Amino acid sequence: MSDVVVRTPAKVNLALMVGPLRTDGFHELASVYQAVSLYDEVRATLVPDGQITVRVTGQQAGKVPLDNGNLAYRAAALLAEQAGVETGVRLDIVKGIPVAGGMAGGSSDAAAALVACDALWGTKLDRSALLDLAARLGSDVPFCLLGGTAVGSGHGEIVAPALARGAFEWVFALDREGMSTPAVFAHLDRLRGAAAVLPPRIPEALMAALRTGSATDLGRALANDLQPAALRLRPRLAQVLDAGREYGALGAVVSGSGPTCAFLARGHGHAVDLSARLAGTGLCPSVRIATGPVPGARVVEG
Ligand code: ATP
Repeated sequence: MSDVVVRTPAKVNLALMVGPLRTDGFHELASVYQAVSLYDEVRATLVPDGQITVRVTGQQAGKVPLDNGNLAYRAAALLAEQAGVETGVRLDIVKGIPVAGGMAGGSSDAAAALVACDALWGTKLDRSALLDLAARLGSDVPFCLLGGTAVGSGHGEIVAPALARGAFEWVFALDREGMSTPAVFAHLDRLRGAAAVLPPRIPEALMAALRTGSATDLGRALANDLQPAALRLRPRLAQVLDAGREYGALGAVVSGSGPTCAFLARGHGHAVDLSARLAGTGLCPSVRIATGPVPGARVVEG
């Protein structure tokens, strides 16, 4: 086999509860992730010379690093080091997930590179070994392997599937410029100042909504502790959220650290209507429809 193609999804945080800043620089998080049907594709091709190279095409490709700053590159390098692989790989990434949009695009590419290179190099790591490597690459990478709907703890890297039923229709309003995740966390710390911060807890109403599959209840329970910081840094997002609510979204929330705004629709028809109305406001340059949950990074060819 000389080529493996992996398709890998974006995520939205249904809840992102941020606890105290830990001594290792991470915040304690309690998160509920859902994988949604906006995808990147990573093609891994064997090269004989032992080098790892990255090419990126698709939306906002010019904003993605091609060196070891690329999370997919780091994933391939980590797997090669751990498994003693000396063959190289070329990674061709096609971006469909917004870059720096709060939807885990880079993490998802890292998960895809792990899956693709594991298949290409025949390293055959089991699921838990892949999850361990994923956790070393970034907080969101293990979830991107897992997909579906899952609860995250630690700094997001400890994931467990959530008891969830039903499929949900989402609308995502993208922004022109991405936002830096560390900058949004730092701004939250500034807003909190010296106030005591409690350990993070996922709202019980959200877990109950997932168990019943009620979109109405889920919409009401969406929660993101980073949202006030993201709105301070990009005030226009408040208008985007208001517009979605006005057009009947069951819930409206900033996705992760933003700037993408996520809206839960009543069904597919409503999602189409909502996306057209949001696009018509002129507040957001691009709007996408997606469903969730979907599986994590999976081989689709090779
Ligand atoms: P998260 O939701 O996990 O906080 P994000 O979706 O906001 O992340 P990414 O799309 O992962 O953000 O991009 C954040 C930064 O990471 C980018 O600005 C880019 O410089 C860098 N990056 C590294 N690898 C990739 C990649 N494969 N795809 C996109 N960006 C990448």
